Amino acid sequence: MAKYIFIGGGVMSGIGKGITAASIGKILQSKGFKITAIKIDPYINVDAGTMNPIEHGEVFVTDDGTECDQDIGNYERFLDQDLTTHNYITTGRVYQAVINRERNLEYGGRCVEVVPDIPNEVISRIKKAVQRVKADFVLIEIGGTVGEYQNSLFLEAARMLKLRHPKDVLFILVSYLPIPNMIGEMKTKPTQYAVRTLNMAGIQPDIIIARSEVPLDEPRKKKISTFCNISEQDVISAPDIKSIYEVPINFQKDNLGKRILNKFGMPAPKKDLKDWKKLVNVIKNSSETVKIGIVGKYFETGKFTLMDSYISIIEAIKHACWEHKKKPEISWLSAGEYEKDSQAVKEIKNYDGIIIPGGFGNRGVEGKIKAIEFCRKNKIPFLGLCLGMQLAVIEFARNVCGIAQASSTEFSSKCKYPVIDVMPEQKALLKEKKYGGTMRLGAYKCKIKPQTISFRGYKRSDISERHRHRYELNNEFRDQLEAKGMIMAGINSKRDLVEIIELKNHPFFVASQFHPEFKSRPLKPHPLFREFIKVCSAQH
Ligand code: GLN
Repeated sequence: MAKYIFIGGGVMSGIGKGITAASIGKILQSKGFKITAIKIDPYINVDAGTMNPIEHGEVFVTDDGTECDQDIGNYERFLDQDLTTHNYITTGRVYQAVINRERNLEYGGRCVEVVPDIPNEVISRIKKAVQRVKADFVLIEIGGTVGEYQNSLFLEAARMLKLRHPKDVLFILVSYLPIPNMIGEMKTKPTQYAVRTLNMAGIQPDIIIARSEVPLDEPRKKKISTFCNISEQDVISAPDIKSIYEVPINFQKDNLGKRILNKFGMPAPKKDLKDWKKLVNVIKNSSETVKIGIVGKYFETGKFTLMDSYISIIEAIKHACWEHKKKPEISWLSAGEYEKDSQAVKEIKNYDGIIIPGGFGNRGVEGKIKAIEFCRKNKIPFLGLCLGMQLAVIEFARNVCGIAQASSTEFSSKCKYPVIDVMPEQKALLKEKKYGGTMRLGAYKCKIKPQTISFRGYKRSDISERHRHRYELNNEFRDQLEAKGMIMAGINSKRDLVEIIELKNHPFFVASQFHPEFKSRPLKPHPLFREFIKVCSAQH
């Protein structure tokens, strides 16, 4: 029988529940167990694909084409596993399935009710995800916090599952302990309220992970223990730390792995986290920097900079840097500035390499094209991702092939020279307003040309990478682009689509139609990022 570990949040969101869940998974995995993880998002959206990146952060994409929450990316990176649509639950998905079944008379004509039918659907989804991979443990992260109305049916599912399998279900609360400036003392009361709320849902947490700026002291531990009805040993201190990859090691200082296993009545194998500790050593001790600029537009929300929209890219840069024992220094360069001020783009000279990430719509596009032109002419290492590749093609068509009006039909539908264009099947979907889950999504095969930079990175010709886009390089312009020196370095042969472009006579000018960042793992950096960072640091 598999063991179920629910992870909920107290006090506020954004305190690292996902990293906590992934870290617990990592600890148990390192002890030899098979782990899987589920993210529950309480919103109605069937997937994250239709949400604005500024509001939602990155849309992560799995091999099977699921557009999901960035936490799935954390799980994949920590557990070094490919997850699927079964690992992602939203309120929308649950209701959609129940309603479809009701319409098909699959409930035998009885009245279908919110309780227990919705929690039962949640439970059956969790069980299916476990059975598919025959996991020993499943981590189920419930997004948001325990007091939120929209979470109640998921808490109900946790309660019902525990009632059915009392020995196989654990609930961990990740809570926040603020240290308000005017008081200067760490306060436990919000966490006490969070536990009360959980109690009202019929759940008593087995372990509390106490997130705070600094480590928890003894008096605070005692207070939480007394008022939250939990043993002191089950209150785990989780102070802010520099690298998320240190979290599992930190938890182990409090023997979290052993505590969890003992609660399930299981002995705890001694071995743990050997490679992971080595990685954290590199992270802490690399001092030589590589300066990477990311030219994008989803950075600002009011007065804050939101890096969440590019989380997988940031992690992929880090993984590649650590492989070369370098310290990444990432800067956010605003495409909008390059449009306003024609000299601003020269700041790119100060970077060892530039990345143009994915994106949608035409805001900032001309600024990004300027940045690409600057990288091409000044031989600055350049990595383009998805939209980044499309813009590199447009720049080359305009400035090298002399097609001054080259563009993408995404930016102007009547564009005369659509070097980037929408495929006919996509056109039909757009016409019918079928936007959700209809892009070219997930894993597609690609063949790499020998003697290219990409081949040097991958060291093989058959690869598979993840996609999320509607537009493609227009094959009608391929000959013209190639004649002027663009290399079509990766091709999807089944549909004859260009997946990677490169330029000759440039130290590193590579752009992919797919998103390599989704497949980078801390101990297995992505080949393209690895090569990119190698050249960047050589140029440094
Ligand atoms: N907007 C472009 C397209 O849909 C690129 C998408 C992306 O960068 N993910 O094709």
